[in-house]
Amino acid sequence: MSDRMPYLTSKLQGFGTTIFGEMSALALATNSVNLGQGFPDTDGPREVLDAAIEAINTGQNQYPPAIGVPSLREAIAEHQQRFYGLTFDPVTEVLVTAGSSEGLASALLALLDTGDEVITFEPMFDIYQACIAMAGGQVKAITLRPPTYGFDIDEVRAAITPRTKIILVNSPHNPTGKVFNREELQSIADIAIEHDLIVITDEVYEHLTFDGLEHIPLSTLPGMRERTLTASSGGKTFNTTGWKVGWLVGPAALVSAARTAKQYLTFVSSGPFQPAIAVGLRLPDQYFIEIAADLQAKRDRLCAGLTEAGFEVYLPQGTYFVTVDIRGLRPDGDGMAFCRELPKLCNVVAIPNQVFYTDQRRGQHLVRFAFSKRLEVLDEAVSRLKTLAS
Ligand code: PMP
Repeated sequence: MSDRMPYLTSKLQGFGTTIFGEMSALALATNSVNLGQGFPDTDGPREVLDAAIEAINTGQNQYPPAIGVPSLREAIAEHQQRFYGLTFDPVTEVLVTAGSSEGLASALLALLDTGDEVITFEPMFDIYQACIAMAGGQVKAITLRPPTYGFDIDEVRAAITPRTKIILVNSPHNPTGKVFNREELQSIADIAIEHDLIVITDEVYEHLTFDGLEHIPLSTLPGMRERTLTASSGGKTFNTTGWKVGWLVGPAALVSAARTAKQYLTFVSSGPFQPAIAVGLRLPDQYFIEIAADLQAKRDRLCAGLTEAGFEVYLPQGTYFVTVDIRGLRPDGDGMAFCRELPKLCNVVAIPNQVFYTDQRRGQHLVRFAFSKRLEVLDEAVSRLKTLAS
């Protein structure tokens, strides 16, 4: 955590500027291959792009309805049915948000009272901690341990207190690439039911799993639909991260609580992009199979290259990201220093995993690379990284 910042509320002291901003600026300044921030460098499907252009050209440029345009809400409900067999009412149980980020923020702001506790798994995507802090809540982090990123369910059990309100689960998981398996999810579900907790799931990488691994939404487990609020978005699935079209699905009471907070955040967003994401969600199964296969090939290419470059690689099961242990190349294992020097040493940018932990020492020697890039870009990054060992 950094020094105290003037003016900033005590709730946000220590959050500073996100590492993604710092590293992307460094990438630009040093003309580096940016494998830091997770976004693709190719466009999504033509039909989806054309649908947005069509929406703009046909005047769909004003405020959309507060809960999202009907075609998108219906497409989200159809998507949950088609892929997971889950039925949601597109009027009361689906809420369109400004990316899953706003969905998560509104859920946390709506559900947490000051001092309420949220159990989640670290390393964790950085907005969780900040949103929980803004909502006046407390994070209780359970550490996922490499190489498999397993966890001890007794630790989850021991973290429960009378103030525990929510378990927050991200699967497929950023930054580790872990896909929680059925047994792990069931053990979380058992605890949530036993202690009557709300579960929030972040499933933005739901279609990006590898080696035939199945993504299992927690709300498909018995007794979970009625207590789970699921956040997802179109950004990763349709290579449209800049459009910020996301959603929440869940039982009406939870969605309506989140809607109350959401209407005072952005109110609405991304008008002409909403019908375009609806087109994407209705693409044939083949599209969803191909994006996972394409990304798997990229994963394999980068992981093989990183191993050759001297890193210990933890093969991800999903997402855009791979984590490596840097100690083979940098014996002091200082990931932050390594990532700050890397653009100068060999013009590649990566993210130090320590920023994803509540206690940064836990992830000190770990670094995350994004492989959601064209193969030639990954090859270029690898050839630059190989110069480090020489
Ligand atoms: N959750 C996770 C785990 C993510 O990695 C990201 C994007 N990096 C988000 C949420 C935010 O997604 P969106 O752009 O839809 O807000």
